[in-house]
Amino acid sequence: MVSIAVYVEDDADYPRQVKEAFAERAPDIHVVDWATAMGAPDSIDYALVWMPPIGDLARLPALRAVFSLSAGVDHIVARDPDWPACLPLIRMAGEETGRLMADYLLWACISTIRGARGWALQQNERVWKRMVVTRSTADCVVGIMGLGQLGRYAARHLNRCGFAVQGWSRSPKVIEGVRTFDGAAGLEPFLAGTDILICLLPNTPQTRNIINARVLRALRPGGAFINVGRGEHVVESDLLSALDDGVLSAAVLDVFQHEPLPVTSPLWAHPSVIVTPHIASQASVVARVDYLIGCIRSMQRGERPEQIFDISRGY
Ligand code: NDP
Repeated sequence: MVSIAVYVEDDADYPRQVKEAFAERAPDIHVVDWATAMGAPDSIDYALVWMPPIGDLARLPALRAVFSLSAGVDHIVARDPDWPACLPLIRMAGEETGRLMADYLLWACISTIRGARGWALQQNERVWKRMVVTRSTADCVVGIMGLGQLGRYAARHLNRCGFAVQGWSRSPKVIEGVRTFDGAAGLEPFLAGTDILICLLPNTPQTRNIINARVLRALRPGGAFINVGRGEHVVESDLLSALDDGVLSAAVLDVFQHEPLPVTSPLWAHPSVIVTPHIASQASVVARVDYLIGCIRSMQRGERPEQIFDISRGY
């Protein structure tokens, strides 16, 4: 019997849902909640975690791999200095994760060009005031920072839906229908041709605060910004200034430096900002469990799953 311990901060019921899905799909894999795992640490083969208690992963001596409930792993590696770095740390992936992110980004792009936040404010006040919107997908270049598993999927999706799409990554990429830029030298020309900037980067020392006044001012006039990467990517005071000064026309923000976003944050009430509570791509329990089963089976065959965190790159 193989066992996997589950910890998801803020969702005490999640281990039960994971247990049910495994029982149906892979009954040989036994799911235990975190407290049980901590009481019998020698019996745990795998851990599935979101924001695990600091130091706990190091207390599981028989662990063979750690699964991140998210595609990002910063909730482990940037928080827990004792996480077992000698083990494979496997990022969440799979078709549903990509599709949900791409759908969110399509909604966010259309929301910025159709002024969705303004209509919602008018509706709250029961105001019937018409404003002509002539901007369409055909007039907008979407620029995606980060062309990894999620960025590539979203680039193709947005392109199929009528947007011109370009992307920027660390290393060169070839994606059909998408103009690509890379490295420090590629950033300025990438930004200069972008109307709607999407941040889909991992949170690393190199990408922290990457969305700052210089980057936002380098976009095409009236540009918009969508953040689905991490809050740590953004210098929030620069973002607010860019919105207030008209450098940016709109922002859609799903991730924040402090989550939940504090009630005192000026972002909540800003007339040009749409806030969502880190929900851009949360795959279903069943999709996640199917992905985990695939990874565990491949490791049982002695293979190496694809989405392993690379400590030398930091993502
Ligand atoms: P990947 O690791 O597959 O891709 C990361 C991309 O970022 C790669 O294209 C990489 O370049 C690029 N990159 C990394 N560092 C740099 C750098 N210094 N300069 C330029 N480009 C860089 O990640 P995913 O696509 O799976 O996920 C991206 C992020 O999305 C996650 O880390 C997480 O923070 C966030 N996320 C948010 C969710 C939400 O619900 N809001 C859900 C899931 C993920 P290269 O290709 O050259 O390696």
